[in-house]
Amino acid sequence: MTSSSGATAVSFQNVSRHYGAVKAVDDVNFDIRDGEFFAMLGPSGSGKTTCLRLIAGFEQPTAGHVVVHGVNMNGVPPYDRDVNTVFQDYALFPHMTVLDNVAYGLMIRKVPVAQRRQQAEEMLEMVALGGFGGRKPSQLSGGQRQRVALARALVNHPKVLLLDEPLGALDLKLREQMQVELKAIQRRVGITFVYVTHDQGEALSMSDRVAVFNQGKIEQLASPIELYEKPATTFVAGFVGISNLLEGAAARAATGAEQACSIRPEKIHLERSDAAIPADAMTARGRVSSILYLGANTRYEVALEGGGELTVTLQNREAHAEPAEGETVQLWWEARHLMRFAQ
Ligand code: ADP
Ligand code: MG
Repeated sequence: MTSSSGATAVSFQNVSRHYGAVKAVDDVNFDIRDGEFFAMLGPSGSGKTTCLRLIAGFEQPTAGHVVVHGVNMNGVPPYDRDVNTVFQDYALFPHMTVLDNVAYGLMIRKVPVAQRRQQAEEMLEMVALGGFGGRKPSQLSGGQRQRVALARALVNHPKVLLLDEPLGALDLKLREQMQVELKAIQRRVGITFVYVTHDQGEALSMSDRVAVFNQGKIEQLASPIELYEKPATTFVAGFVGISNLLEGAAARAATGAEQACSIRPEKIHLERSDAAIPADAMTARGRVSSILYLGANTRYEVALEGGGELTVTLQNREAHAEPAEGETVQLWWEARHLMRFAQ
């Protein structure tokens, strides 16, 4: 449930966090909307966790302000912020039952026993763990433990939930399943989720908007579709999806201009060398340098005659005669699919 009120949940205003010479977060400005599923995506060391810790209050900015629901958080300790964090390692209490783990925050707030029991049970239902309340964390799978950690945070009804690579410890299949569930839970509770990940697939599949971090700065903040279809910089094009970057002479040969550009692999058609190509298409000739069969699709690396290399993915709608490794092929794409970059 994305809020239609347009209210701001979290605002970074010229925020920096430097550690000596290390600019972990460097003069960053952005707003997170109330009710939004917001992802911070970037490589390791790009400043994502530091931003999360600045919101939670475990860190203070060296410059600027973090504002949560209109209140400047400078100097406000973590426990006075309407914010909860879910960590990758769950941090459940091993000696407590699942129900007591979930009810923990309510106990601290002195909510009466019967009431906290009921609220904790409701939250376990919410994360599809109704009936698991009597177990110990050790009697649960990794995915179930992660959902307990989520329920334990959500039971406090924070205005903002911070999640730092929460699915990092799970295997791929479970991670993909949890992505769907997390998104559904976020919609149901309507709480603002701020989700840190280095996994572009995870960010694209769950988020309303994604901020792409690079060296303590945001390269682009946009919807998943916009990030993928209209990356603002070569860094974003490369970090979100396969970049297929062409520069200099290679760009000139393929497009007529030296400006850096790229075309997503699935936008490129691959044809035999003698096939007819639409007259208004952009084209390039090259040699197939490698073929990777992936089941649903096949990935071709094509070394262009004009320099550079493009990756092409073809969907395997049917088993057909593919060009072989070493064969000369023609590539073509529609001009509107070419992405050009300023730098
Ligand atoms: P990410 O979560 O994107 O991997 P972090 O926010 O953890 O990145 O770190 C950003 C940069 O700040 C890294 O270079 C990291 O080494 C540095 N850093 C983070 N915390 C500290 C700290 N307490 N002391 C010194 N350097 C730190
Ligand atoms: Mg981190």
